[in-house]
Amino acid sequence: MEFTQDWAQQKDQQDSLHRFKDEFYFPQHEGKPVIYLTGNSLGLQPKQTQAYIQEELDAWKELGVDGHFEGKRPWMEYHKFFAEKIAKIVGADKKEVVVMNNLTVNLHILFASFYRPTATRHKIIMEGGAFPSDMYAVESQVKHHGFNPSESIIEVTPRAGENALRDEDIIAAIEEHGAETALVFFSGVQYFTGQVFDMESITKAAHKAGAFAGFDLAHAAGNIKLNLHDWNADFAAWCSYKYLNSGPGGVSGIFVHEKHGNNPKTPRFAGWWGYQESTRFQMKKGFIPEPGAAGWQLSNAPVFSMIPHLASLDLFDDAGMDNLVAKQKEITAYLEFVLAESAPQLKVITPESRGSQLSILTDKNGKHLFDYLTKNGVITDWREPHLSDMEFGVIRMAPVPMYTSFEDIYNLGMILSKYQAPA
Ligand SMILES: *Cc1c(COP(=O)(O)O)cnc(C)c1O
Repeated sequence: MEFTQDWAQQKDQQDSLHRFKDEFYFPQHEGKPVIYLTGNSLGLQPKQTQAYIQEELDAWKELGVDGHFEGKRPWMEYHKFFAEKIAKIVGADKKEVVVMNNLTVNLHILFASFYRPTATRHKIIMEGGAFPSDMYAVESQVKHHGFNPSESIIEVTPRAGENALRDEDIIAAIEEHGAETALVFFSGVQYFTGQVFDMESITKAAHKAGAFAGFDLAHAAGNIKLNLHDWNADFAAWCSYKYLNSGPGGVSGIFVHEKHGNNPKTPRFAGWWGYQESTRFQMKKGFIPEPGAAGWQLSNAPVFSMIPHLASLDLFDDAGMDNLVAKQKEITAYLEFVLAESAPQLKVITPESRGSQLSILTDKNGKHLFDYLTKNGVITDWREPHLSDMEFGVIRMAPVPMYTSFEDIYNLGMILSKYQAPA
């Protein structure tokens, strides 16, 4: 690797995914596209999204209620157009996934199935400093079942002076609390530090303890290689608007392992759209679920929040998840290299086990540096310290492989090397 424009441009020329940059709209800064490093927060808009939305507006306009059965994508079967594409991204069978609702809503729906505490087994083990919605969802679930969050929620935190969690500490916590644990619930990629958790070992340890294992993949779906089925995870949910580029507040997806999905006795909150498809419209009393994750659907498909997701998934299909992951590793390594060359004072706290994101622990001038980047057309994101012993904030940078070029990273390095901290 070299911190030179020549090297970066050559790398882009050899990159088979470079062409995808043209498939996206970039916000402009002084007449030029920004260097967009916040695809982990809100992915950019694919240019083809508008045409996909227009097709559904036309179907509605021209067909009215018949759009449920006619047109290019009949709404009646709408979730099926997503299954195979999203299954490839999360490493599942197409029956194990479905696209529905929003992420936090889905977490509650999945907790209804997989957090069923008893007097002796009521604990949830999770990462300390989890994304707020996860903390609140878990806390409210525990209270809803009549337990006390301070007894029933076990948070695993990094050791003093460290920023990432050690895998062995997670496993040790599961072993320690195993007999009382109902659910082990982690993110796939920690939103603050960018750490990728070892979901396979966490699942194995949870099962050995007699607990379920579930994952919030908001920062993992479309970012890292996932193998939910083979890892034997019980459930997972993710959003589509971060790495999956499907628009603000976009629809969520869930995974339910087939061993639960094919069991009609798996408890769940039900709605008419999860009912056995072949007889749904007999509209009889008594819920019979459709096999698979589809049996967790409550409502009929929200077509206009789902269609941007399909526009983006078609790009993922075209690019291929393995190619994206391969480029992700290279471009994140290049970012790490360029940071060290151009701003050696900055400290990356993201561990080796990582996806697209690098989190940079700042000093007292952190906010000043963040503002400097923004003023120079580099879009990053600022996070206040999240763990009690963290003194300064963090700047997160995610060079997502679908639309970030090596030259973008070189340009970022040039901007950083001209930075002057206030005296
Ligand atoms: C972004 C994110 C969410 C957001 O939840 P919504 O219901 O989509 O608002 C939840 N959990 C994690 C870990 C996230 O990173």
